[in-house]
Amino acid sequence: MTEVLRHLAIDLGERHLAVGVVNADGVVGVRDRIATPPKDRLTALERLVDRVLAATPASSRPTICVVTGPGPIDDAAGAFAPLGIPGWQQLPIRDTLQQTTQLETILETTGRAYALAACDGIDSVIGLHLGDEVDGGVVVGGRLLNGAHHRAGGFAHLLVDPDGVSCVCGALGCLGAYAGVHSIETSTGRGLVSTPSALVTRAGIMVARAVASLVATTDVRSIRIGGVVVEAFRERFIESLNTELEERLRLPHLAEIDLKVAQFHVLAGASAIARSIVATSTPSM
Ligand SMILES: [Zn+2]
Repeated sequence: MTEVLRHLAIDLGERHLAVGVVNADGVVGVRDRIATPPKDRLTALERLVDRVLAATPASSRPTICVVTGPGPIDDAAGAFAPLGIPGWQQLPIRDTLQQTTQLETILETTGRAYALAACDGIDSVIGLHLGDEVDGGVVVGGRLLNGAHHRAGGFAHLLVDPDGVSCVCGALGCLGAYAGVHSIETSTGRGLVSTPSALVTRAGIMVARAVASLVATTDVRSIRIGGVVVEAFRERFIESLNTELEERLRLPHLAEIDLKVAQFHVLAGASAIARSIVATSTPSM
């Protein structure tokens, strides 16, 4: 039996700052969100958190705070440090929120948290999140793989086209250059929903190549894909992905993988991380 108390879940992105108090069953109580301001993001976040906590009854006070945002995480600075998205660089989010809320505060990437949320009821899953950037995670036996730098699942830099387009990391042909909002909008000069259909098809092809490599190398057969790119690109993207996947996945034991689109509430990832932290830190009976 684990004691899972309420947690403060926060999700930070280029479109929104979202904050909510979530109970042990994952139900969001008091919540609020604002459009992400171009500057003074930390001040805006503090005000938002203050508002949510002020509206939360003392009996429902959270005991831990988990913040999801664009990876990777700079552990020393307690900040998100996404390549090519300067708005979050060097903002001391962890320490600031710890002071504001008086709660232990943990940062996790949106994609890794998405993978853990997607693992609900499945033993092992690869989560691929196509949001502001491409990110994800690998869950095996219900546990999120961490890696030496807490960055396992950084699928943005999976090579999908050796002679492809430039990525913010400096290499050519990384998945993130084709399937993340920031890269897509920068390359087209348009909003995501106005992406030319050829690029939507190409994104599906590149994601399929990444998925084929991931399932072949990890032997994890459940794949969940989500994020605003999937929402915006819809059927054309999925069709392209499935067609390319048929070409790429030739190993007999991978003939039938379990690939689904899965979208969750923006606070679901942070909530999944909070619950896993509480569960692993509580002694088993
Ligand atoms: Zn790259």
